[in-house]
Amino acid sequence: MIYIHVPFCRRKCNYCAFNSAVGDDAEKISYVEALTREIELRADFSQVESIYFGGGTPTTLTLAQLEKIFDALTKNFSVDERAEITIEANPSTVDENFLRGLKSIGFNRLSLGVQSFDDALLKILGRIHDSRTALETVALAEKFFDNVSIDLMYGLPTQTLEILSRDVARVKNLGIQHVSIYGLEVERGTKFFSDGVTVDENLCADMYDFITETLPTFGFRRYEISNFAAKNFESRHNLGYWTGKKYFGFGAGAHGFDGKIRTSNVCDTATYIQKIFAGEDVSEVEEIVTRQAAMEEFCFLGLRVVEGISAKTFAKNFGAQIFDVFGSVIEKNQRLGLLEVDGDKIFLTKRGMALGNEVFADFLF
Ligand code: SF4
Repeated sequence: MIYIHVPFCRRKCNYCAFNSAVGDDAEKISYVEALTREIELRADFSQVESIYFGGGTPTTLTLAQLEKIFDALTKNFSVDERAEITIEANPSTVDENFLRGLKSIGFNRLSLGVQSFDDALLKILGRIHDSRTALETVALAEKFFDNVSIDLMYGLPTQTLEILSRDVARVKNLGIQHVSIYGLEVERGTKFFSDGVTVDENLCADMYDFITETLPTFGFRRYEISNFAAKNFESRHNLGYWTGKKYFGFGAGAHGFDGKIRTSNVCDTATYIQKIFAGEDVSEVEEIVTRQAAMEEFCFLGLRVVEGISAKTFAKNFGAQIFDVFGSVIEKNQRLGLLEVDGDKIFLTKRGMALGNEVFADFLF
């Protein structure tokens, strides 16, 4: 698995705490040069089953720049011909030509940051697109890609259940294959934070319930706490994170995991570029994953997935029985109606899915 971070956006959204900023052309040229150098330096030629270009907004780069990065990947890694290759895009940053170009470069999955189809909400969020552009972009995307995902947000200022239900209803006839949902979190450093925006947790919970009950009626199965897909269109890349696969992360602020050590690249884009050009290491060890931490991660990441975790796989991975290590945690959450055990499988109940963070916290010693 490979993650590529592109830290540029046309404009900073009011709620966004991601590592992204508005970059100029010169900075983008230098960044692409630095990024391809990092990829070459860490050439591995191992088999890659998924690639994910995220950000920021990767489609603020030109097609030529994206192709240059893509070429560096295929020259320095062994990319499986059936690999899932996703690029995040925002409505307003792609047109028909651009989408055709993405397809011919080799991307086979498009993730569109729609967030809402409500113009007033899109304005509050500070998005650069309006509802009409979002609908037009989804329709165009369907022309070139048979695997299209959209992001939807809930818990937003002024958003009511009725407004949300209109957004969700739109999904039914879009012809897309995947939906990711995000509840608003007001994070430090964002405009929402300095404006004192707050989230109504009760309304947020009702909205989450509404979405999780409605999307399956349109043929989208919930396969993870916040992700829904038509059959066989689950994101293989994201499933990889939740099931503990190794991954490379290239670019400013990108994270990597080799099965034992978690690393992170320097976040600041200018420093990242400067260090790469100076021949300095941009990555530092973030965490050496101990056996105990690996057992905890196996549980709290794996439980995000609807199928849950396997007691047999736990025993195979760690040479210990899951009930010996986490027996009291599992029992407590079973009693609370948040976890269920069925043969080899341990998984979150419907209520547990809504209160996932409380369950996960219990698995941390
Ligand atoms: S487009 Fe995405 S990454 Fe860029 S500022 Fe908005 S939310 Fe953040």
